[in-house]
Amino acid sequence: MPRVEKEDQESMAMKLLSVQNSPVECEFYVCKWDKQVWGRLNVPKHSFILWMAIQDKLKTKVRLFKFKVIDEEVCGLCNIHKENVEHLFFHCSFSHVCLQVLKTWLGWNVRAEDLQSLIRWIERSKQSQFKKKVLAAALVYHLWRARNDEVLKISSSSQEVIIRRTKEAVKLRVSCAMPRKVSSEDKNWFAEL
Ligand SMILES: [Zn+2]
Repeated sequence: MPRVEKEDQESMAMKLLSVQNSPVECEFYVCKWDKQVWGRLNVPKHSFILWMAIQDKLKTKVRLFKFKVIDEEVCGLCNIHKENVEHLFFHCSFSHVCLQVLKTWLGWNVRAEDLQSLIRWIERSKQSQFKKKVLAAALVYHLWRARNDEVLKISSSSQEVIIRRTKEAVKLRVSCAMPRKVSSEDKNWFAEL
């Protein structure tokens, strides 16, 4: 990775961490998630969305409404519920379907359906570091897509396309940035995805 790009990532991460409220949570994310989130399997701009979501700093409608920037806080994808981070990425009918398909695709056998629980599950699960990084990459890309889908107001009829693009993006990124030390078992697992 180019030196400048890595320094940009690190300074961005530190800026974000400087506004973190809880020292315990801050320590947890720095120690446990730094490598997965800012690792080479993730595109930096996608990782940035995860960092913002973790800290509830994304400009969701609930936040914009709170600061009187807009006059309604209903999710732009389902037009039913309030649009906060958990809803947008996990509970909205649109992104929920996409996440479920991704979880099945990767053998991501966990019932947790909120950001903190998924992060903890990936970190604590007894899987290889490579698999954890692929799961993290998929989570990061899912968040990125869900965010863009909301901004672009993509209809639910596009879910199949979104899922296919997400899979392709994860496969392409991981293939291009494949770590040197990956077991043959992990390589086979990835090749069969
Ligand atoms: Zn929604």
